[in-house]
Amino acid sequence: MAKSVLSAPHFQTEEAAFAYVEARLWPHGPTCPHCGNVDGARIGRLQGKTTRTGLRKCYACRKPFTVRIGSIFEDSHLALHLWLQVIHLMCASKKGISTRQIQRFLSCSMKTAWHLTHRIREAMAERGRPAADGRTGRHRGSRRNLHWRQVGP
Ligand SMILES: [Zn+2]
Repeated sequence: MAKSVLSAPHFQTEEAAFAYVEARLWPHGPTCPHCGNVDGARIGRLQGKTTRTGLRKCYACRKPFTVRIGSIFEDSHLALHLWLQVIHLMCASKKGISTRQIQRFLSCSMKTAWHLTHRIREAMAERGRPAADGRTGRHRGSRRNLHWRQVGP
């Protein structure tokens, strides 16, 4: 029977979405974005009923972090699995997708939809593909390291 790609676990649950993104951004295990610690033995996973999904603690600098820090998902309140859905849609639609379509898809505000599409397009441009106006996106001096193809379908 046909099955929507969006039924894949990383599009449906936060836990699976984090596992999916972590496997791509941290292929060798978690990296502390604060101090650069990559020693898995000195990075713990914080678990608890009220703990945010994917929260880690670095025992070298004692700061908490998630894989969202330093990526296009930073500073966003939108659930990670919804981000992945939007990225998939933007990637899968040949003619592109408007901010208005994203807003309807997520039933979110135009502001949220705009923020999402803007970040995703910026990440696409950072891959070296020129944006519509010919800029590459690097002029922003962004430290965001999430490459488009790392999360694309
Ligand atoms: Zn650290």
